[in-house]
Amino acid sequence: MGSAVLKDRRDQVWIKSETEGNISCEKSSLAGAVSQRACVFCGSRVVLYPVADALHIVHGPIGCASYTWDIRGSLSSGPELHRLSFSTDLQERDIIYGGEKKLERAIGELVSEHKPNAVFVYATCITGIIGDDISSVCKRATEECGVPVLAVHSEGFKGTKKDGYKAACDALSRIVGTGDISGVSPVSINILGEFNLAGEAWMIEDYYKRMGVEVVSVLTGDGRVGKISKAHGAALNVVQCSGSLIYLAEHMKEKYGIPYIRVSYFGIEDQSQALYDVADFFASSPELKINSEKIVREELSKIMPQIQFYRKVLSGKRAAVYVGGAFKAFSLIKALRLIGMSVVIAGSQTGNKEDYQQLKDMCDPGTVILDDSNPLELSKFVLEKGADLFIGGVKERPIAFKLGIGFCDHNHERKTALAGYEGMINFFKEVHSSVMSPVWRFAPRKDKRGRREASGTPFDRQKDKRGRREASGTPFDRQKDKRGNDKRRRNHEN
Ligand code: SF4
Repeated sequence: MGSAVLKDRRDQVWIKSETEGNISCEKSSLAGAVSQRACVFCGSRVVLYPVADALHIVHGPIGCASYTWDIRGSLSSGPELHRLSFSTDLQERDIIYGGEKKLERAIGELVSEHKPNAVFVYATCITGIIGDDISSVCKRATEECGVPVLAVHSEGFKGTKKDGYKAACDALSRIVGTGDISGVSPVSINILGEFNLAGEAWMIEDYYKRMGVEVVSVLTGDGRVGKISKAHGAALNVVQCSGSLIYLAEHMKEKYGIPYIRVSYFGIEDQSQALYDVADFFASSPELKINSEKIVREELSKIMPQIQFYRKVLSGKRAAVYVGGAFKAFSLIKALRLIGMSVVIAGSQTGNKEDYQQLKDMCDPGTVILDDSNPLELSKFVLEKGADLFIGGVKERPIAFKLGIGFCDHNHERKTALAGYEGMINFFKEVHSSVMSPVWRFAPRKDKRGRREASGTPFDRQKDKRGRREASGTPFDRQKDKRGNDKRRRNHEN
């Protein structure tokens, strides 16, 4: 596999039809490997962030809070407390004498100023190390402030991002079950693992409402403490993304007997299946099935002509996919195939054995499958496989641009809706504008050895007005004045 893959990471890299055995996964990142994974605290923060009428207090040094300030493109239809990030900003003195008193004061001040419906207090590495008892502080604060103050045990060092999801689900489970559920319809669901990026939850909610299903609560997109408290009244939990909210779904199944199904709202196939699966669950209401089929027909008739266009232009292009949860990778592979694109690299930060088995089954021979990867490995395989596009998050963007290929943000920072039928078109539009962007004529891609390609694509070398090839580089490299003199050189000489 070459020097780009460290010896201790070789069992987390798998190439279809070439590698024997199973891929290794669900383990701590290798020290020094510069993993693309985020910490436990970040895992909790991304799940709870969209609860818009709650205060989010990060108990730790300011760096942790700045890392997760305004981190998601999650929209709110009302309050926007979630967009403020508060920190106890622990200093040396607090590390030595403890930060509990400071935290208590911060909760008191912030609750009286912002009047939230709940408070989430996040533990970080430092508070875990010095041993602050945030559970006791939160318990006292709940009694004094009259709103639930919930400790989120998200000490950054204690595991992987997945442990952060668990800590967030644990905090949410203490709100679920506290509200009044009289009047909730027997044909009702909770939407779990949908974070309302660019209003996606509203689109999904609208499909279900058009089917005739009541949506009791969305966790956590456009989240409200009151609605979350009633979530135990729903008949079914519909869980998107296997990683983040599955722990809450399992808890609710055990405690309240609410079953759950796993769905994805990304891609025509999966979005339609998400509607059909809910209709099948409520089989005693046959009109739901009829309504779901009608919605699928209507929505497809709107977007199919545009899909044909993108298929014509993008067919044959190759994509590298590296995402948080593997569930998203499945949907991306299917969606890209719809426009004739193939996936040559597929990886995730938090996939489990079943996820990787499914990836292996879905992928074409030669596809590289990666668990908990790093920039060096990703760059190596992007070059080797000749990917034209990288789909990932904020940490993968610079890798793509440095290699001179298109990039599509499919992470929680994005501001474009990619879910549902409308989102599918937004996604293809983004893929198209990035892969076909004229910018690549100024930043030609690197070849397999990591060198800039000197020529070969129509964009690499431009012609001048008389149709002659320019001597070198791009129009930015050497500017000439009206007399044909090199401006830069002249300025320098002056
Ligand atoms: S919790 Fe720890 S790992 Fe996470 S941002 Fe803070 S210091 Fe870094």
